[in-house]
Amino acid sequence: MHLWCIGIRGFRRLHKEGHVGLSLILFSPFMLLFRSLNADMTYVLITCVLMAAFSSLPDIDIELQGEYGIKHRGITHTFLFGIGVGILLGILMSYAYASLGWLMGFIAGFGSTASHILGDTFTFEQFSPFSPFSSMEVSFGLFGSSNKIVNNFMLGLGVIVFLISYEPSIFWQIFRTIKEISGI
Ligand SMILES: [Zn+2]
Repeated sequence: MHLWCIGIRGFRRLHKEGHVGLSLILFSPFMLLFRSLNADMTYVLITCVLMAAFSSLPDIDIELQGEYGIKHRGITHTFLFGIGVGILLGILMSYAYASLGWLMGFIAGFGSTASHILGDTFTFEQFSPFSPFSSMEVSFGLFGSSNKIVNNFMLGLGVIVFLISYEPSIFWQIFRTIKEISGI
C-alpha cells in the first residue's frame, strides 16, 4: 500500500459525488475564461451542468458487466468512448441549439468521460484509458475509490470553485462572512 494512502481499499468505483466535484473543478477555469471573453454564460453553464451530469456514465459498465464481454473499467473508461459520447451528445444538442449545440454537446460528453478517467486514476485499480491505441495501464493509487471523505471533499470543493468562477464576487462574500464569524 502506498505511503501517501489516505483511505482504504473499498468498492471499485469513485462515487458519483467525487466525479461531479472533479468535473466542476476541471470546468471552472474555462468558465472564468469564457466570462473574461464576455461569452453568453447561459451556454457555458448548460455545458458545465451536462458535463457534471454525465460524469458517472462510464460506470454504466458495472450494471452491464458480463454482457457483450463488458468488464468494469474496460471500454467505457477510454478516451475513445469519450469521443463517442461527445459526438452523440453533440448531435442531440445541435437540435436544441442550432449554432453552438454540437460544440456544447461534444465538450460536455468528452469532458465528462475525460474527467471520470482522471478521477479513477487517483484510485488503486489500474485500467487502460488509451485502449485500443495503447494498453498502458494507469493508477496513481492515492486513495480507495469509496473513500467518503475524499468523495465529499471533492464535491464540496467542486461546488465552491464552480460558484466562485461563475460569479467571482461570491469569493469576497464568503471571505467577508468568514471574517465576520471569526471576528477578525
Ligand atoms: Zn469509473
